[in-house]
Amino acid sequence: MPELPEVETVRRGLLPAMEGKRILRAEINRPDLRWPLPERMAERLTGARVERLRRRSKYILADLDTGESLLIHLGMSGRMLVSGVMLGDFHLDHPAPQKHDHVVLHMEGDARVTFNDARRFGAMDLVRTDREEAHWLLSGIGPEPLGNAFDESYLTAALKKRSSPIKTALLDQHVVAGLGNIYVSEVLFRAGIDPRRAANRISATRLAQLVPLIREVLTEAIEAGGSSLRDHRQADGELGYFQHSFRVYDREDEPCPTCTTPIRRIVQSSRSSYFCPRCQR
Ligand SMILES: [Zn+2]
Repeated sequence: MPELPEVETVRRGLLPAMEGKRILRAEINRPDLRWPLPERMAERLTGARVERLRRRSKYILADLDTGESLLIHLGMSGRMLVSGVMLGDFHLDHPAPQKHDHVVLHMEGDARVTFNDARRFGAMDLVRTDREEAHWLLSGIGPEPLGNAFDESYLTAALKKRSSPIKTALLDQHVVAGLGNIYVSEVLFRAGIDPRRAANRISATRLAQLVPLIREVLTEAIEAGGSSLRDHRQADGELGYFQHSFRVYDREDEPCPTCTTPIRRIVQSSRSSYFCPRCQR
């Protein structure tokens, strides 16, 4: 499942193909992904110019000069491919059409953007840009973890009412946008907080460290994604999936990098949490 840094890497990889460019032709190869695609989608996209390519939580939003935005969600299995552009040192040639190429955007300047999704857990929609906040997938999402609205006083207030484990609280998209299982495990390790600790029972001192640590973990991952785009060894135009090493995530029974105690795995809200029982309290 792509998390915020992967989605941000996809957005950055799409920039040269999409931002400032007109959609010359939109090829919509089926009526639905996870949910039905919007009505007259091809017609509404054709001729539109992408003014800005943004990210909100794990969604990519392409603001069009028609007053609408194309919302893209990769879901669990969606892949974005670009071709006809330079990516790092490589010129990406157009690949042969593949099975599960559900939406293909033929952009001005010979660039092509392909959304391929074998399992169709991804989604696309068209939303009025000025009513984006009301869209059912975007409404109620908390502040961006890398944005200015997300700070110590906000997080303190948001966690004060929550007696759920801190791990669960940080995964709640109302609290903060786009944080997922992998990065929450890393953040709690760096903060020395046990993932089972009640969210409203974390001392002010430790809570104060959480915001900068969340930013640090996400920024490092985005930078790793950026370098994967630059040297792009595969050069097949697929965006957003890169090798990344984690200190605790997916390291059950391996020694803690700080104290060598074996990393433990537990299940919380049906998802795995990894932590050091000695360093995290
Ligand atoms: Zn440890």
